[in-house]
Amino acid sequence: MDGDITTGSESAVLELDGAVGEGGGQILRSALTLAMVTGRPFRIRCIRANRPKPGLMRQHLVAVQAAAGICGATVDGAALGSQELAFRPGPVTGGDYRFAIGSAGSCTLVLQTVLPALLTASQPSTLRLVGGTHNPMAPPVQFLQRAWLPRLAEMGARIDLRLERFGFYPAGGGIVEAHVAPCARLEPRTWTTRGERRGGRAEAFVAGVPERVARRELECVGQAMNWSADQLQACVLPAEQGPGNALVLTLDYEHVSEVFTAFGEKAVSSEQVARQAVQRARQYQASQAAFAEYLADQLMLPLALAGGGGFTMDEVSMHARTNAGVIELFLPVRLRFDRVDGVDRCTVEAR
Ligand code: AMP
Repeated sequence: MDGDITTGSESAVLELDGAVGEGGGQILRSALTLAMVTGRPFRIRCIRANRPKPGLMRQHLVAVQAAAGICGATVDGAALGSQELAFRPGPVTGGDYRFAIGSAGSCTLVLQTVLPALLTASQPSTLRLVGGTHNPMAPPVQFLQRAWLPRLAEMGARIDLRLERFGFYPAGGGIVEAHVAPCARLEPRTWTTRGERRGGRAEAFVAGVPERVARRELECVGQAMNWSADQLQACVLPAEQGPGNALVLTLDYEHVSEVFTAFGEKAVSSEQVARQAVQRARQYQASQAAFAEYLADQLMLPLALAGGGGFTMDEVSMHARTNAGVIELFLPVRLRFDRVDGVDRCTVEAR
């Protein structure tokens, strides 16, 4: 962290500065999750100060509303564009919850905010979200299903996530549903190696976009990754779910699966989209790490809740360091980043 994120005393309301470190939405989302789980109230100013449009966007606002609904929180400042928020949580209650983001704001980021808290409830929960399922700058649903949730399952969390309808930027309208079983305690886990390579595949999803776009992306991926036709799948979705195009590369290993995604955009060629996804996948393949940047980022909070564990990672992002700073404020843990035999490592320790 390159700044002090808090000015409050240990037992009082935590005072967070949303401009610290990466200065994005994760500071708020992690604070919401951790407040729900620990019962600790917080206030945050300068929300998303380092983003082009600072303050609460729809996704963040719905994350606040969802968190508040699930734990009966008292909230001040929950409005679009707000750069300050006060959140005083109550006890987390499982149940049936539905939230509509009302734009292509990311369903997966809202899900990730509330899922760790719902695990602590004594009742099972169903969470249905309407919004974006495949947005730039957020994990696509397949990332959660194949990369994130299986690792959480190894820590004892039973969460079933279904994608009912795709929602692309900017139209949104996607639907996801999660079923969450109570989990008394997450177990610490350590992932140091990815293990043997088990397989790889690419899916090019298109909705309201010509199928040839998907075919060109796949051809390019096939050549670059040396993959055969049976590893390449064009998935043509109903046109009303679009317009949208996502290229999803999945690499399966013995101990981990990784998912790399690139999104089609106007004025960006299919070949460029393919190159973006391939470049990320190759960076990961070239390293010895268990996790790539995003999975590393997203497993720190669950491990901190478990009170220990760790992993190796192919890149330590500013996002991860900022997130670690928020986690350490709420929980009695230390997240240590170091480099062993040329590989970056994150270790979560009780303090
Ligand atoms: P923020 O920019 O602070 O709102 O956080 C964005 C979150 O989305 C981070 O947790 C990233 O790890 C995650 N993320 C962004 N792009 C991807 C992607 N292509 N695949 C998986 N996760 C992603």
